[in-house]
Amino acid sequence: MTKITVAKGDGIGPEIMDATLEIILAANAQISIEEIEVGEKVYLSGNTSGIAHEAWETIRRNKIFLKAPITTPQGGGYKSLNVTTRKFLGLYSNVRPCKSLHPFVSTKHPVMDIVIVRENEEDLYAGIEHQQTDEVVQCLKLISRPGCEKIVRYAFEYAKQQNRKKVTCFTKDNIMKQTDGLFHKVFDEIAKEYPDIENEHWIIDIGAAKMADSPEAFDVIVMPNLYGDVLSDVAAQITGSVGLAGSANIGEECAMFEAIHGSAPRRAGQDVANPSGLLQGAIMMLNHIGQTEVAEKVQNAWLTTIEEGIHTYDIYKEGVSKQKVGTKAFAQAVIANLGRKPTLLQPVSYSNNTTLCLPKYVRKPAAVKELAGVDVFVHWAGTNPDALAEIVQSIQTDDLQLAMITNRGIKVWPNGFSETFCTDHWRCRFLPKAGTMANKSGIIQLLTNALEQQVDTIKTENLYLFNGKAGFSLGQGQ
Ligand code: NAD
Repeated sequence: MTKITVAKGDGIGPEIMDATLEIILAANAQISIEEIEVGEKVYLSGNTSGIAHEAWETIRRNKIFLKAPITTPQGGGYKSLNVTTRKFLGLYSNVRPCKSLHPFVSTKHPVMDIVIVRENEEDLYAGIEHQQTDEVVQCLKLISRPGCEKIVRYAFEYAKQQNRKKVTCFTKDNIMKQTDGLFHKVFDEIAKEYPDIENEHWIIDIGAAKMADSPEAFDVIVMPNLYGDVLSDVAAQITGSVGLAGSANIGEECAMFEAIHGSAPRRAGQDVANPSGLLQGAIMMLNHIGQTEVAEKVQNAWLTTIEEGIHTYDIYKEGVSKQKVGTKAFAQAVIANLGRKPTLLQPVSYSNNTTLCLPKYVRKPAAVKELAGVDVFVHWAGTNPDALAEIVQSIQTDDLQLAMITNRGIKVWPNGFSETFCTDHWRCRFLPKAGTMANKSGIIQLLTNALEQQVDTIKTENLYLFNGKAGFSLGQGQ
């Protein structure tokens, strides 16, 4: 018996959760349920994170969390419960299988069976944002080696467990050579450990276009957080309906399972919502806790029900569907099909599922790190980069000399183009004179000079070499 935490959520949440639990309990799932309240009511009671302290304790104690969608009230100040839960509990991996159910659910892509594995904790979702000048705001994109290793290994282990043939990586490392470059590099390193699984990398733009056009070309796709957020919805939608997909959020200790759709408040309380997305989440949960037989039985009963044309309104189609049903009647139809297997759709078999081998991250020996210069960011309302260069050269030291100025990454000094549009946010790169080394006291001297000359410095970024290799980007056009 596994104790799980359940949150029934808002809108259609309670109805689809009741249906889901009824189905899996009828299939003899060995679970006991501890219910918590999260979402709208908790937010509106003045708790900006939508979850009370005691509820966290329950989730952390039981470790397995089945969550219905919640409504985040409109207006400022309310933090996304999903993002908070993923980060607090270290749920680094988001897994979304997207498979078409042709010909029973309309789709332009009859042959589609993709699993998106999305990194869930870092990237632009670190939520570190600053306004730096009148005109420019910044969001920090943080990509870490442990983050990349954990998610890429998860994708390959998942592919191995599910007998899948290929893992594809999507990044934009032709532009973001450091951040996406690290993700791609780690992908190539880890792929070598799985010689039986094909691997490939696509630049995200053309990869996404290909996925939307010819999804049959892909199997498991692993990607950083933001790309995964966008593309997992695209993938689910092109199977026929976002209402059919579930998602697993997996961490080293805890895991959370849910539907990918929201709380659909306009459909609430009418017994019309499709419980399939949450049921798919629950099936992933049963597999995760080792109740593979129950998971298999429920999935095959669900596929049989879809195949019989017993459909909720969102997927009902005249001529294909046989019976339009509500939430409760759909659940009863699935229960009646427990023990049966689909005949046209492929039945599933989870009995040979092995456990995933996910070793703890081991930190690599530290590299030799050398200071190679500094980027000083300056708030300046002028427009002529040559004029700024003259001002900024007045703060340079004997050790650190102005080498380049960029504006939004484009080199504007020396030898910039007059056509380049400039904002009030300038990056001034200072490098040591040939044959000398940079040091931190030189940077402090530079900033002291800036203070005296009333140059408005807003931040600095140290430039480092790691084992002799530049750990920073060049200016575009440099
Ligand atoms: P939504 O997913 O709730 O609804 C989008 C559309 O899909 C609507 O037309 C809805 O009727 C339909 N739909 C969704 N699920 C369905 C189902 N199971 N059966 C039948 N039809 C279904 O997205 P939204 O309208 O953008 O968001 C509504 C609320 O949900 C918002 O408060 C949002 O913050 C929240 N939300 C929560 C989660 C979550 O808790 N995981 C995820 C997304 C959105």
